[in-house]
Amino acid sequence: MREVALSTSAARELVSRYVAGQQLDDLLPVLRDLTSKGLLVSVEYLGEPVTRPADAGERLASYLELVRRLAAEGLARGTEISVRLGWLGLGLGPTQRSAALAAARQIGRVVSNAGALLTLDMEGSETVEETLGVWQQLHADLPATGITLQAALHRTCEDVATVAMPGTRVRLCKGAFDEPRTVALRRGHDIDLAFVADLRVLMHSQAIPLVATHDPRLVAITEELIRRSGRGPESYEFQMMYGIRPLEQRRLVDIGHPTRVHVPFGPGWYDYYVRRLAERPALAALFARSLLGKR
Ligand code: FAD
Repeated sequence: MREVALSTSAARELVSRYVAGQQLDDLLPVLRDLTSKGLLVSVEYLGEPVTRPADAGERLASYLELVRRLAAEGLARGTEISVRLGWLGLGLGPTQRSAALAAARQIGRVVSNAGALLTLDMEGSETVEETLGVWQQLHADLPATGITLQAALHRTCEDVATVAMPGTRVRLCKGAFDEPRTVALRRGHDIDLAFVADLRVLMHSQAIPLVATHDPRLVAITEELIRRSGRGPESYEFQMMYGIRPLEQRRLVDIGHPTRVHVPFGPGWYDYYVRRLAERPALAALFARSLLGKR
């Protein structure tokens, strides 16, 4: 499927709506286009899965090269670099935890020197404790380091209060992982209610909420909470994925809301795209037709 998708122009075109290519050279024009429209950007590097410490070393080098190139091209200032600790070796065993922290520290320093922002992604529920532990250590040295919380997890209502320190960037999303009932809410409506409850905690705190959702109702509720709290544009962000609801992204910017587009790129694009397809069966049908040349 991967090879066919790469060699089929209609499929490549569909993928390129959501992924800014495989190479840094593909990413740069996408970032320039978005920033020229007043949007903020966040970059997510998509690598191949990490199964050995050597893979984690390669991933670290890719992140460092990404920041170096963004700085050289004048695109680093204010750009958020989204980092998955799993790609720095967290999850490969207890001995890799300190290596992942050291790698994240190295990225954090390079990001900070370039005037960019580092935010940690959140992966499966079994990694949350370790990720928060690493984030706390990073945040102590580099307070601009952001963290992601997933509203679907039962524990998030407590975590959100812990991380909502003054000036801390906290990205709130619904959560992309299929988690068991024991650790997470499963019904969409329950997740939405939890999202709003967590959002209220963030809005009442002095943290900087990064509201990562495409859900029109949650966006409307966020707008209302911003209005009521009197927050200025430096104290929150909307965040959405590249290619998802682009007109809404422009609308938010046009009415003065800081809005950041999360742009994935890199050789691991296929797994990412397949996950997006899993969320949207209609898109999967379109993709399948484009592979068959019948789009
Ligand atoms: P949904 O209910 O899924 O979608 C609401 C509406 O958005 C839909 O009705 C549709 O109009 C539109 N929409 C949503 N997805 C698509 C799509 N694929 N194609 C077309 N339209 C679509 N999750 C994590 O677990 N960890 C992370 O670190 C993480 N980081 C994220 C960072 C950012 C910036 C964003 C935006 C999301 C992140 N997520 C992360 C993913 C998140 O948890 C959700 O899985 C994802 O955003 C979909 O949820 P939603 O809030 O948009 O609501």
